[in-house]
Amino acid sequence: MSATPNPPFWLLAELTYRCPLHCPFCYNPLDYAKVERELDTASWVDVMRQARAMGAVQIGFSGGEPLAREDLEELVAEAHRLGFYTNLLTSGVGMTERRIRALKDAGLDHIQLSFQDSTRELNDFLGSAKTFELKRRIAAMIKAHDYPMVMNCVLHRHNLPHVGRIIDMALELEAEYLELANTQYYGWAWQNRDQLMPTREQLRQAEAVVQDYREKIGDRCRLLFVVPDYYEDRPKACMNGWGAVFLAVAPDGLAMPCHNARNLPGLELPNVRDAAIDWIWNASPAFQRYRGDSWMAEPCRSCPEKGRDFGGCRCQAYLIAGDAAATDPVCAKSPQRGKVDEIIFHATQPAAAAPQPLVFRADAASRGFIGKASL
Ligand code: SF4
Ligand code: SF4
Repeated sequence: MSATPNPPFWLLAELTYRCPLHCPFCYNPLDYAKVERELDTASWVDVMRQARAMGAVQIGFSGGEPLAREDLEELVAEAHRLGFYTNLLTSGVGMTERRIRALKDAGLDHIQLSFQDSTRELNDFLGSAKTFELKRRIAAMIKAHDYPMVMNCVLHRHNLPHVGRIIDMALELEAEYLELANTQYYGWAWQNRDQLMPTREQLRQAEAVVQDYREKIGDRCRLLFVVPDYYEDRPKACMNGWGAVFLAVAPDGLAMPCHNARNLPGLELPNVRDAAIDWIWNASPAFQRYRGDSWMAEPCRSCPEKGRDFGGCRCQAYLIAGDAAATDPVCAKSPQRGKVDEIIFHATQPAAAAPQPLVFRADAASRGFIGKASL
């Protein structure tokens, strides 16, 4: 464990779990409905001041849907005044001409706009709301206000065959970047993994399409294709290491080294209502728990690659192996790799692809997970 960790670089301010959409791949915790009292404006300002004083330079305002907070403009203005580079991660729902002008005046630097698909039918089905036309209008608004725009689309079995059309849409909407992020299986996506997991062949075809476009369009729009690590033989370098660069604060003030860590067992996450960010980052047991490599067991402990991937993702280790301190089961060196292969096999059988309905993220469904949710 490092005695004096570097300060956090990224502050993720999850302002609210409220969201007008209902994506079945949402990374929010299944039992998010148990969070009733959101941090107020003054508390968020205090969190930002403390994190900035420690050296944090980037802030992401996310959720849920951050536009559901009426004080978003005020928070952005304060973040800008403090010297943060400010990012808004939004579905676009709640954006208006008046609000985007206010956000511009407040100093917002960057907007990431998510789409569910390139077709109205699938976009609106996955979000359970008619937002396709609205999102296109918001994209035009973002460009009209001279923002650099990242368009984001979460990929899975249902929209992977549309990847070329999704890129065409990003070009048409003049996005500078398109993030094609294959579903990560946490939260609602973990619940729906049998309905979302693509086949290896689908992924291979989509990656080939992306590569063709890269050659064709050059720098006109940067295409980021984030491969799902279930199909890799090494895990992702999750959060660039636990408590290394990333500090997430949930709507109720819970501070986390990773935005999925809320329900990891045996981890007493500190709350910004009760503790200073400096103590949370540098000294709290939760942030120390998996920092560095002294916590690792074999095969990670003696592995020459541990400085590259930090043993993978703690939440994935817990979800799949039942042990948050285990080697990420995605790794081919993990004795539990067979469990990942089983999940893929089970999810991609024709029987799994058809009948089970998707579980959409919704307050009523979330209330049903309270007390039994796993991440
Ligand atoms: S993934 Fe969908 S449901 Fe979840 S916060 Fe984003 S827009 Fe809302
Ligand atoms: S054994 Fe651990 S450190 Fe080595 S490659 Fe696998 S996850 Fe990474």
